[in-house]
Amino acid sequence: MAGIPNPEIKYTQLFINNEWLDAESGRTFSTLNPATGEEIAQVQEGDKADVNKAVQAAREAFKLGSTWRTMDASQRGHLLYRLADLIERNREYLASLESLDNGKPYLDAFNIDLGLVIKCYRYYAGWADKTHGKTIPMDGSVLCYTRHEPIGVCGQIIPWNFPLLMQAWKLGPALATGNVVVMKLAEQTPLTGLYVCSLIKEAGFPPGVVNVVPGFGPTAGAAISEHMDVDKVAFTGSTEVGHIIQNAAGSSNLKRVTLELGGKSPLIVLDDADLDKAVELAHFALFFNQGQCCCAGSRLMVQEGIYDTFVEKATARALARKVGNPFQAGIEQGPQVDELQHKKVLGYIKTGIAEGATLRAGGSSWGDKGYFVQPTVFSDVTDDMTICKEEIFGPVQVIQKFKTVDEVIDRANRNSYGLAAAVFTRNLDNATFISNSLRAGTVWVNCYDVLEAQAPFGGYKMSGIGRELGEYGLEAYTEVKTVTIALQQKNS
Ligand code: NAP
Ligand code: MG
Repeated sequence: MAGIPNPEIKYTQLFINNEWLDAESGRTFSTLNPATGEEIAQVQEGDKADVNKAVQAAREAFKLGSTWRTMDASQRGHLLYRLADLIERNREYLASLESLDNGKPYLDAFNIDLGLVIKCYRYYAGWADKTHGKTIPMDGSVLCYTRHEPIGVCGQIIPWNFPLLMQAWKLGPALATGNVVVMKLAEQTPLTGLYVCSLIKEAGFPPGVVNVVPGFGPTAGAAISEHMDVDKVAFTGSTEVGHIIQNAAGSSNLKRVTLELGGKSPLIVLDDADLDKAVELAHFALFFNQGQCCCAGSRLMVQEGIYDTFVEKATARALARKVGNPFQAGIEQGPQVDELQHKKVLGYIKTGIAEGATLRAGGSSWGDKGYFVQPTVFSDVTDDMTICKEEIFGPVQVIQKFKTVDEVIDRANRNSYGLAAAVFTRNLDNATFISNSLRAGTVWVNCYDVLEAQAPFGGYKMSGIGRELGEYGLEAYTEVKTVTIALQQKNS
């Protein structure tokens, strides 16, 4: 066994003003261990009344002259560095809690999720005192410069697939640039995000700078996106809810909106690719995190010369994938996050079979408890099939055949999503031509899921609005103010 299979549950309340509170309504909801379907804990269920309270706390912390508004920018960075250190101190505990609440293998949580989380906070800590404005040359009788100011109260709504990492992607840039936050955690996975609140307090962030309300989307989430005193909403989740968020922003106070939504990302393998490497990385691209990645390589397009061999090898790899208890070392795949997702994925598998795709591996539920799905592979998938068009968000690999480079670009782009894409080839011309031609926010060449804090990430088309991470990610959390000062004397 790896990690702590029964981590103590310490925080299940709302975090407002650096204090732990019960929900106004007195209601709670249960969070489950998806590997068994059993309850881990009851968590306070925040709704509109609690969101209002959190927004008030945030607004107070953002007042002109407040500790947070007048803090040296370097000190803001220092607080973020301390938060990263505290998360690192609690790395084993947090990875265990993440694995328990979400179902992902403990070692993935420890190595990948926590590694990226710690790095993300450190990366944005470094930016806190480096987001400079500009001095703009004009007529010498004025001085013109820009300030990169915080937007204000930022509502942040995050999903369950990478609870700690999505929290870091949202808090890192928001806090580095001096904003205050009201965050809603996903109802399936509230525990780690709440634990991080205790570390935010320990790190020394002033009260009200970060407020976290666990609860449901249509109540707590909607209260954030409709709120007249929230200046920005950042959301990661389904395209369906992305529409609701943007509508809510539009019909309330035109708050700024950034969205990171779903995908159906093509992974294109040309005849000249390193075959074994492409098979392994295509397997990782789809099956990592139980297939629950917005940027999963969920549409695998293989050139006809290697297609049959590729399908054979990809099938063998899926059949060898180790499914089981997330705390057991060597396990590659845990359960889907909940019963609803389990049902949804099995439904897509049925549709794939009914619409005529060839089932090569898997095809049903795994084990006799929890929400596991067998690693599943379909070949001979055509563009019109549901499993080729829609996001499955589960361990279901969808393989298609193509003949030419022009054909594959055209087919890959005929999709409403545009989050990520990949091309595997040894030919530099083809790699460049294809990556320039794909309508996607990220293109990986001979690699997949290389996601670092310093490289921007986000979607074209219905995969989202705006970019997270990197220097570009700061733009989503700053207003640019132009200041022009008339001078007494004309300057050179
Ligand atoms: P979802 O409903 O989009 O959930 C994402 C977040 O939005 C959660 O915190 C959710 O709250 C909240 N939310 C839901 N309805 C809302 C509303 N009306 N107003 C404001 N916030 C709202 O996603 P899901 O239902 O968990 O999963 C459905 C599908 O979304 C998946 O199968 C997958 O295709 C996609 N998905 C994508 C990502 C991604 O990384 N892009 C992540 C997760 C899911 P609750 O906690 O109440 O749900
Ligand atoms: Mg859970």
